[in-house]
Amino acid sequence: MEHALEELRKALDLARRHRREAKHALHYPLYPAPRVAVLGLELAGPAGVHCLVDWTPEKLADLRPQALAGWWNDLEEVARRLMEGGLELPDLQFPILVFSHVNSGPLPRRSHDLLWDWFRVPTYEQIRGSGGELIAYECAARDGFHLAAGADPSSLPLGRSAEPCRCGSPAPLYRAGAAVRAMAR
Ligand SMILES: [Zn+2]
Repeated sequence: MEHALEELRKALDLARRHRREAKHALHYPLYPAPRVAVLGLELAGPAGVHCLVDWTPEKLADLRPQALAGWWNDLEEVARRLMEGGLELPDLQFPILVFSHVNSGPLPRRSHDLLWDWFRVPTYEQIRGSGGELIAYECAARDGFHLAAGADPSSLPLGRSAEPCRCGSPAPLYRAGAAVRAMAR
C-alpha cells in the first residue's frame, strides 16, 4: 500500500513538472510562419520559430529573422541597436508580435506607432500571463483581442464585445470600453 502511494506521488510530481515545462504556443498569425526570432520567452511554434531566451545582438544577427516576437522592452532594445547601427536585420519583413503583460496590456496606441516607426512592418499584440501563456491576441482585423482557447477572460482588462469580429473568427472578441458600453445600455 505504502509502495503504491509512493508510486502515485512520483507520478503526480512528474505530471506537475511536465506541465510546468510545457511550452506555450507562439500563435503566429501567418501560415506558414516565416523565420521568427522569439525574444525572452521559450515558446513552441512551427518550423521557422526560433526562441532566443537570452538573446544578444550577435545571436539575433546570426539568425537573420524575417519577423520578431517579444516583450516591449526587448523590441525597444532591438530598435535602439538597429538605429545605432550596431545591428542589421536585412530580412525583417513580416509582422512583429509584441507581448504585453495581462496586468498592464494592452499597449497604448503610441507604442504601436513607435513600433511602426522603428520596424516598418505591422505589429500584432498578444496579451500573455506571467508564465508566458497566451490569454488574448490581435487578429488581422486589429479591432480588439480574441480570447485564446482555454484562457480565463476574468484577468483581461477588457470587456467582451457583442459584435462578431470582421475577420470571421468565432473566438470571443474583447475590446477596451466594450463592457462599459454594455453597462450603459
Ligand atoms: Zn478577428
